[in-house]
Amino acid sequence: MRYVVVGLHAAGRSACAYLRRADPAAEIVGVDPAPLPVYARPLISYALAGEMPPEAMTVADDAFFQSLGVTLARERAVALDVGRGLVGLASGREVAFDRLLLACGAGPRPAGVSGPLCHEICFFRGRTDLARVMDRVRPGGVAAVLGGGLVGFKLTMGLLARGMAVHLVVASPRPLALNVDEYVGDWVGRRLADAPGVTLHTSTSVREVEAGTARPLRLRLNTGESLEVDLAAAGKGVIPRIQWLADSGLDLDQGVLADGYLRTADERIYAAGDVAQVPDMVHGDARINAVWPVAVEQGRVAALNMAGVRAAYPGTLAQNAIPVFGSRMISVGAVNPAFTAGAESVVADGPRGSYLKLVFRDDRIIGAVGLDAPPRLGELAFAIRRGLRRRDIPDFWLDNPKNAAPLAAPGGALTGNARLG
Ligand SMILES: Cc1cc2nc3c(=O)[nH]c(=O)nc-3n(C[C@H](O)[C@H](O)[C@H](O)COP(=O)(O)OP(=O)(O)OC[C@H]3O[C@@H](n4cnc5c(N)ncnc54)[C@H](O)[C@@H]3O)c2cc1C
Repeated sequence: MRYVVVGLHAAGRSACAYLRRADPAAEIVGVDPAPLPVYARPLISYALAGEMPPEAMTVADDAFFQSLGVTLARERAVALDVGRGLVGLASGREVAFDRLLLACGAGPRPAGVSGPLCHEICFFRGRTDLARVMDRVRPGGVAAVLGGGLVGFKLTMGLLARGMAVHLVVASPRPLALNVDEYVGDWVGRRLADAPGVTLHTSTSVREVEAGTARPLRLRLNTGESLEVDLAAAGKGVIPRIQWLADSGLDLDQGVLADGYLRTADERIYAAGDVAQVPDMVHGDARINAVWPVAVEQGRVAALNMAGVRAAYPGTLAQNAIPVFGSRMISVGAVNPAFTAGAESVVADGPRGSYLKLVFRDDRIIGAVGLDAPPRLGELAFAIRRGLRRRDIPDFWLDNPKNAAPLAAPGGALTGNARLG
């Protein structure tokens, strides 16, 4: 049996480990043009902030793949011939597979900006982007960050830590609009607006980039204003890398469509990670939840199924936890107002501004967003995976968001300062 894994980052690395465990004698070929070592992509924001050296991001080097007996092809896959069972590589070489995993991830979404210097906009997806941003960092200088999602927020914090003033330009009325509810988005917006060195521009976008006079770049905004900056970096989401699969005959939508076993339209081919569009646990349709633990878990489940160990994937689940100005912000499942129409919510405002909102549909919890709330991300994810009913949510979560017990003792009713929305 020959397994071919295209992409060796979070999903592909995890898959290689589980393929070897499930099938000790098989041949495993890993295809990826990116130089080793594999590093934890989320950590580039900590490296930008100066909180860790880039070398500390390493999660797997040559020795890791050697120990698994993975043969590495350090080049890009450019074509998939499903009929002949072949992956075409950039060099013209072809690699035959019995089972194939597509784990080629996603690239940064273009910033949607024109003008003579639009190529000067940096992205923030990997090590090379980090180096490009670092080259342009000027302590005491001015930066612009395009995009108010989690990556835009992390870029802003990192550049502030490097001593730059930051214009955060957000197309939505509030930051983190896709990740949290309006309350938490507004709270983050207020904190950003009050933070020394940050200027928050909401409902605003950058149209053009041209040469500046006082600083290298001038950004023209849709409001008619312009900003002069030393550095402009965009974090506007990701686009799954599916272009090379356009003629493959696989079902493609935003990503590669895969079923509850992470199998694509072809039973020999699987997909995992940021490239995989798979059934979502709370939304019911197929989605991409582009986060590291989801990619690792999908790599594991896909590998087991490829090796003939039937493993159902329970569905993908959006989940984020980040520190925000000294507070712990968490969100899990369905919390974006655009996707929770008709759902009921229970909100608890705790002492010192702690906050927890639980979203229910048909009496089952489908989402949660919190600020310094008692339940941990894992506990909330567990509650959603189990589809806990409202009566099974511990009182303490909502009675006193600062002083709660873990999800070990279900059974209480909603009381205290909780209110039904
Ligand atoms: C700045 C930043 C912060 C983040 N923060 C967090 C966080 O805090 N928490 C969290 O959970 N997630 C975070 N993420 C998201 C997380 O990093 C991704 O979800 C995860 O890396 C996805 O892993 P993946 O293996 O699916 O894809 P990728 O990490 O995109 O890796 C895909 C691999 O495939 C290779 N490849 C691509 N095309 C081809 C091809 N044609 N042929 C061969 N190989 C190919 C690439 O070289 C790459 O090695 C963050 C991401 C960024 C950029």
